[in-house]
Amino acid sequence: MDFALPPHVEEYRDTVRRIIAENVTPEMIDRQHESGTFNSYELNRAMAEAGLLERAVPGLGKGDPIELWVLFHELEKSQAPYDSISVALMIAGVINAVGTEEQKALIIPSILTGEALVCMGYSEPDYGSDVASIVTRAVKDGDEWVINGAKMWTTMAHEAKWLILLTRTNPDVPKHKGLTMFILPMDTPGITVEPVPTMGTEKTNATFYDNVRVGDEWVLGQVDEGWRVMGVALAFERGVMGGTSVATPLLRHFHDWAAHVGLANDPLVRERMARVAIDAEVSKLLTQRCAWIAASGGLPGLEGSMAKVFATESYQKASRWFQQMAGPRGLLQFHEPDAAADGWIEYDARHSPVTTIYGGTSEINRNNIAERHLGLPKARR
Ligand SMILES: Cc1cc2nc3c(=O)[nH]c(=O)nc-3n(C[C@H](O)[C@H](O)[C@H](O)COP(=O)(O)OP(=O)(O)OC[C@H]3O[C@@H](n4cnc5c(N)ncnc54)[C@H](O)[C@@H]3O)c2cc1C
Repeated sequence: MDFALPPHVEEYRDTVRRIIAENVTPEMIDRQHESGTFNSYELNRAMAEAGLLERAVPGLGKGDPIELWVLFHELEKSQAPYDSISVALMIAGVINAVGTEEQKALIIPSILTGEALVCMGYSEPDYGSDVASIVTRAVKDGDEWVINGAKMWTTMAHEAKWLILLTRTNPDVPKHKGLTMFILPMDTPGITVEPVPTMGTEKTNATFYDNVRVGDEWVLGQVDEGWRVMGVALAFERGVMGGTSVATPLLRHFHDWAAHVGLANDPLVRERMARVAIDAEVSKLLTQRCAWIAASGGLPGLEGSMAKVFATESYQKASRWFQQMAGPRGLLQFHEPDAAADGWIEYDARHSPVTTIYGGTSEINRNNIAERHLGLPKARR
């Protein structure tokens, strides 16, 4: 593992920092919390024009996963609305890895402009962790597939141009073997979207599929090979862009507020801040390791689970500690007078638990580590 950034990546990081300094404003950050939509087309366009998006797509040949990690690490530290573009770039990487030439030519350029977002339709009302059991059906009818079912937590479905959709195409084989992934335009007839608010602020959606008819050209990867496509997507989601630097800005906000109100010299407060800083550094290094593995031709499935569990649980612990130390002021929200750290502590206390759920819960990631790394017996079949 080489932690040093090569000169061209340092140059890339400098450009990322410049674009953030020029474009990310307090109003932009405010807008994401008011709307619950973690996206800014303005910022996406600025990053696209500077060539940052093109370089960050895994495997596209113009950059590597180290650049992808650098981009999201910097965006996360600045608290920019980046979640939606990160999913879009990750899916561009998946299309690049397993898509047809037609899909690559049609979809990837639209994502690289920063205008076209992608939502992920994996989870269903009854199947989230056990996603291999999903029941949304795609049935062949002549030259077409007919898709019927419902998905839950289809984040950004209300804005996205594209949808990556996991379906069951063969119910008569072991569950992991009868799945097929589609990539579809969101305006395909038969798709409807219903909003779902969450405690962590981010707006998500339930999506419904009513006799959605599409041709073979929208199958992503091979028929009945959807589980393999999921594996590629999840390795990037957990490993390289897993929301693993969120505690860093929280620490900054808490530190500034503690100094302002005279708490920063309290030994317990200092000890907790030091621990949060150490955990944030470990989270960063675990994530950088994933990026390095991906850049060296590997797939950081196991290491991604390790980074995600450690970083998201440390973030949740930090937000609880800071809320306890802030007392009642830690319960006040953005724009309320006297809110500790301008409301960030209250926000992070609501948002941090959610990060231990999406992209695979901590329990599921622990099972992954236990089974694949420690050789312990399987938790489920
Ligand atoms: C804000 C938000 C955004 C999301 N965005 C998306 C999205 O864009 N696209 C998408 O497809 N999904 C999305 N998800 C869904 C997310 O991936 C699932 O919520 C997650 O995988 C858990 O599934 P579940 O909610 O069905 O919980 P369940 O699977 O029902 O789990 C409930 C509890 O049981 C535990 N558990 C389950 N199975 C096991 C086991 N085998 N061993 C030990 N413990 C277990 C879990 O850890 C959890 O604590 C999002 C979720 C949230 C909250």
